[in-house]
Amino acid sequence: MNTASLFTAKKVIFSLEVFPPKKDTSVNVIYNTLLGLRGLPADFISVTYGAGGSPAQREKTCEIASLIRSNYHIEPVSHLTCVNSDREEIRQTLAKLKENGICNILALRGDKTPGVEPKTDFLHASDLARFIRETDPSFNLLGACYPEGHFESDSLEEDIGHLKLKIENGVSHLITQLFFDNNSFYHFLELARARGVNVPVEAGIMPIVKKSQIERTVSMCGASVPPKLATIISRYADNPSALMDAGIFYATEQIMDLLENGVQGIHLYTMNNVEVATRISRNIENIIAAKNA
Ligand code: FAD
Repeated sequence: MNTASLFTAKKVIFSLEVFPPKKDTSVNVIYNTLLGLRGLPADFISVTYGAGGSPAQREKTCEIASLIRSNYHIEPVSHLTCVNSDREEIRQTLAKLKENGICNILALRGDKTPGVEPKTDFLHASDLARFIRETDPSFNLLGACYPEGHFESDSLEEDIGHLKLKIENGVSHLITQLFFDNNSFYHFLELARARGVNVPVEAGIMPIVKKSQIERTVSMCGASVPPKLATIISRYADNPSALMDAGIFYATEQIMDLLENGVQGIHLYTMNNVEVATRISRNIENIIAAKNA
């Protein structure tokens, strides 16, 4: 099923994101994660792709997406980056996805890997989207967007200009980078709509539930931390159970506000944490069901 068609069937969709294990020895972790997530009301589950990973590591994305489809009967979305790939490698990956019945691809550029010279066949995600569209138009394409602007762009306006190219090249559905301040999402959406970005946009939500997540997440994606979240973090940083409760509460409140303000979809960055994904899903499932009734 094409994820864009979900938006015609429902007012609000709900999706989850998982990542493949970094080490071969932890492969059971992802199986246990998927087992734990299978009862949740997800419209689709997306699987990340390690832009800088080894070929074997990158193949896991397709394997896991395939498992989600065949064993759990949930629609998978396979992420795919192009920064370290040439056309032939992408062609082979597309063939593998097709063979496994995966029809939704989140087309990304990926980040440059330190010490690795990026390949030059694809400079931007929009180039990858165009290539996939030309190679096999049966794939449904998703893309990433950035409520606070992508860190390489000079301005949000410039970034939205580039976003339009993705859509012109076939992207039918966007998922945002994580953000903690809903005002940045509303501001982004208003600008994007005014510039003609007219595809559905899902809000990417990452609950902050562990001390180790805080610096890494914020420094990696540059999301601004509102005072309310900063207070929660500093108050409970050394109390893991309280931080988990507070982080789940903050994310739930964020989602509630988005739902009340007409968001089309919530994409939960699960970080493969079944307990957190389950608690948040249970907090909001009846509200989403009521919106879709
Ligand atoms: P692009 O859309 O190519 O944008 C990158 C930069 O180039 C932006 O500043 C943009 O404004 C600019 N740009 C775009 N087009 C042009 C143009 N024609 N001319 C000039 N400048 C241009 N990374 C992974 O490695 N694996 C994953 O699985 C993964 N999943 C993600 C999922 C989501 C929902 C999000 C939001 C991000 C994800 N990322 C992932 C991170 C992503 O790869 C990085 O943020 C990367 O830096 C940008 O990728 P992009 O696809 O948005 O790139």
